[in-house]
Amino acid sequence: MTLSLRTRLLLTHGLVVVAVATALTLLALQAERRWLLQLHGTALERAAVAVAGDVQEAQAFATIASRADSTYALRVSLIARDGRVLADSRVPLAQLDDHSDRPEVVAAFGGRTGRSLRMSRSTRVEYVYVAVPARGPGPVAVVRVAEPVDAVRATHAPSLRDSLLAAMGVILAGFALLFGLSGRFAGRVHALERVARGIGREGLAPRAAEVPADDLGRLGRVLNEMEREMRLRVEALQRERDDRERILAHMSDGVALVDGAGRVVHVNHRLAALLGAARPAEPGTLFQAFARVPDLDELLEAARSEARTVERELRLWSPRAQVLRVTATPLGGPAPAPVLLVLHDLTESERLQRLRQDFVANVSHELRTPLTSLRGYAETLAEGGLEDVEHRERFVHIIRDQAVRLQALVEDLLSLAELERPDVTLRRERFDLRAAAERQVAALREAARVADTPLELVSGGSVWVEGDRVQLEQAMANLLDNAVKYTERGRVTVRLGADDAFAWFEVRDTGPGIPAEDQPRVFERFYRVDKARSREKGGTGLGLSIVKHAIQLHAGEVSLESTPGEGSTFSFRIPLRAVAAVR
Ligand code: ADP
Repeated sequence: MTLSLRTRLLLTHGLVVVAVATALTLLALQAERRWLLQLHGTALERAAVAVAGDVQEAQAFATIASRADSTYALRVSLIARDGRVLADSRVPLAQLDDHSDRPEVVAAFGGRTGRSLRMSRSTRVEYVYVAVPARGPGPVAVVRVAEPVDAVRATHAPSLRDSLLAAMGVILAGFALLFGLSGRFAGRVHALERVARGIGREGLAPRAAEVPADDLGRLGRVLNEMEREMRLRVEALQRERDDRERILAHMSDGVALVDGAGRVVHVNHRLAALLGAARPAEPGTLFQAFARVPDLDELLEAARSEARTVERELRLWSPRAQVLRVTATPLGGPAPAPVLLVLHDLTESERLQRLRQDFVANVSHELRTPLTSLRGYAETLAEGGLEDVEHRERFVHIIRDQAVRLQALVEDLLSLAELERPDVTLRRERFDLRAAAERQVAALREAARVADTPLELVSGGSVWVEGDRVQLEQAMANLLDNAVKYTERGRVTVRLGADDAFAWFEVRDTGPGIPAEDQPRVFERFYRVDKARSREKGGTGLGLSIVKHAIQLHAGEVSLESTPGEGSTFSFRIPLRAVAAVR
């Protein structure tokens, strides 16, 4: 059992107090004994000597003793030479034995005054005894007077009782003081203990009391300094950790640190997202259970066993198709080593790569047809075709048409390349969109007449916009050109206007329309619904793609509504005031 500090203080100090008080009491009792024997004994001796003077002649010992008793208020005993008690004023003689061995009697037999303080063997009362020799011829050899100690104390020594009471009072007061002091001391120690416990914990640690500036106060100051120092260090560490986590959280690569036992030390959000997890794994989770990609486990194992960085390309099909380049680097230290896993997403770059390849293939394909035809007709002419009066003119026209097609293709490619440049800038100016539309409609009027397709611009007021006039004119021209091109013996209606903060432009035709499944794709490069027809009409497959890019650069949007067999409506909306486009 461990006693509390307060109880222990109380017990040890209490013992000291009790010991001191007891010693003092014993000393006091000793002093009292001395006083009883010496000072009070002298008074008794005087009485004994007086009685001794009376006993020589008389024979009536009992009377002498009781008279002396009533005179001096003392017990008086007359003792013969052989130790027998001849008379006793308070105790019947039958109860009294031989008194020759009593120390005061022994001294009186020796001719001296004997004094003694002891318990009476006959009466079991504590007495102060004084015995004096009775000189003379009578049978009385010794006169002994005695007074009960209690009686002396009652009459002569009230101060002793007071001092004993005072001693008790001192002890009690000492205990009370001790109780208070030890409580205060233990309280201060406990307060320091609480402060010490709080150091290094989350939240604010209580401050230790530094006053009074005694040992505990100094200890308090040291604890406070320690706490301050610790807090600063913990804050610095936390800042460092937060910085590191912020860096990891904002990395575009997925990062995971896996310890030697295959448990997660840290996983950033990006890695969790790449693996389709809602949030990063908690530290201590088995990485295997979190990632559920066996290839990653193999890679971790390989990095550990080969003790070098291992890199591999990984294809994941869930949660979505992805291509990742994974690097596993063992971080050294005692085996099995922790491994740093970095997942780099190649999906987008692979998609772009594929787009580029497709584009090059498409462009080559588009160029090959006119080039083959050019070369064929040119060779035919060179190899005697010039003499063929009947056909040469047609050949030359074909050569010119193919060159025109090539030129159109190259121009569209250049326009698209220009629009797709990452640093493309719009040459913004304020102009009337209606006036620009009128010019484009006028430019196509002849083609519309040839196609037997009335082309009408519904009249209205000016629509002032801020934008790149050349690009917006090209977008309108492409939409008008398509409508006229694909609509035979139908009609094309053009409308434009403005609402709130937007300008809108719309071309409605009664042409063949576009099947629903092709509608989302017609704005892609080289996508054609009817390839043969597009080629026949001199289309490059890039017109709508150019429209989409131009409108997106103006922070606008294009849309298409079409019903096969009834016609199509292509339209775009752009903000009236220039805003930055989101690419
Ligand atoms: P193209 O140079 O072939 O016209 P576009 O990019 O301008 O290329 O158009 C892509 C395809 O969308 C066309 O090949 C055509 O099949 C279809 N298309 C475009 N406009 C219309 C329209 N007004 N009516 C029907 N089909 C259209």
